[in-house]
Amino acid sequence: MDLWFTENHTENVKFSIRIKEQIYHDKSPFQDIDFFVSEEFGTFFTLDGLIMVTEKDEFIYHDMIVHVPMAVNPEIKNVLVIGGGDGGTVRELTRYKGIENIDMVEIDEKVVVACKKYLPQTASNLDDNRVSLYFEDGVAFIERKKNVYDLILIDSTDPIGPGEGLFTKTFYNNCYEALNEAGILINQHESPYYERDKKAMHRSHLRLKETFPISMVYQFHMPTYPSGHWLFGFASKKFHPLNDINEIEWLKNDLDTNYYNLDIHKGAFALPTYVKKALENE
Ligand code: SAM
Repeated sequence: MDLWFTENHTENVKFSIRIKEQIYHDKSPFQDIDFFVSEEFGTFFTLDGLIMVTEKDEFIYHDMIVHVPMAVNPEIKNVLVIGGGDGGTVRELTRYKGIENIDMVEIDEKVVVACKKYLPQTASNLDDNRVSLYFEDGVAFIERKKNVYDLILIDSTDPIGPGEGLFTKTFYNNCYEALNEAGILINQHESPYYERDKKAMHRSHLRLKETFPISMVYQFHMPTYPSGHWLFGFASKKFHPLNDINEIEWLKNDLDTNYYNLDIHKGAFALPTYVKKALENE
């Protein structure tokens, strides 16, 4: 029997993956959580029917959310991850010996428990002794923090449901306050392609630009996300992601990465004209 998982990228566009079986379903107080095993992408999971992480392409997303800021400020020691329940972002952070503390604030403990069981590839380093897990809303957590973090990574779902609060001006202001004077913020910045994602991208960009003196956007290819064209935001109080890239120091980490490299770091900030226009379109 033909089994397929289908995600609606828009009301007129569907994305389907042939699956071998569904291995998990639960409904947490926050979202539906489903895990599947597929021919092409290995094991993957969805939240409220939207693909979050697949074994095959997660390396792209987790390389680009972590190594870009780490190549700019080699002094990063204290990091906050908001969301990131699959553990892939934390896995990449723990590869840096200079990092001393990682706080991960994930609203849904069921996501972490399920990923530890069905996606050890990403959840493998959540037990690192530098990692502290907090199962609560990142919107509330950030209000308690002032001038403590070198880096904040907002590894969130889309701006719907529990993730909605992670895209507001108030939240970005609180992130600004939680960062120290050299602080960098990276946020999941949606996509320039389909209308709904483009609107979310534009809103985030305006709010970050109003909050941080340096606020830029970089792109990467993510096969299982709507259109495959996905973005991160780079916002900072001090560092410019290209002028301040510290190549020699980053190379000293001697990390074997499959997507990130210093060339793609520079190239990722070169955006297509239609994306530039969409970002600046008032
Ligand atoms: N890398 C994937 C992506 O960008 O689509 C998803 C990363 S991870 C699965 C996203 C996580 O954000 C989910 O586990 C979700 O529970 C969590 N999340 C959503 N809203 C949150 C909030 N307000 N506070 C903390 N975590 C939240």
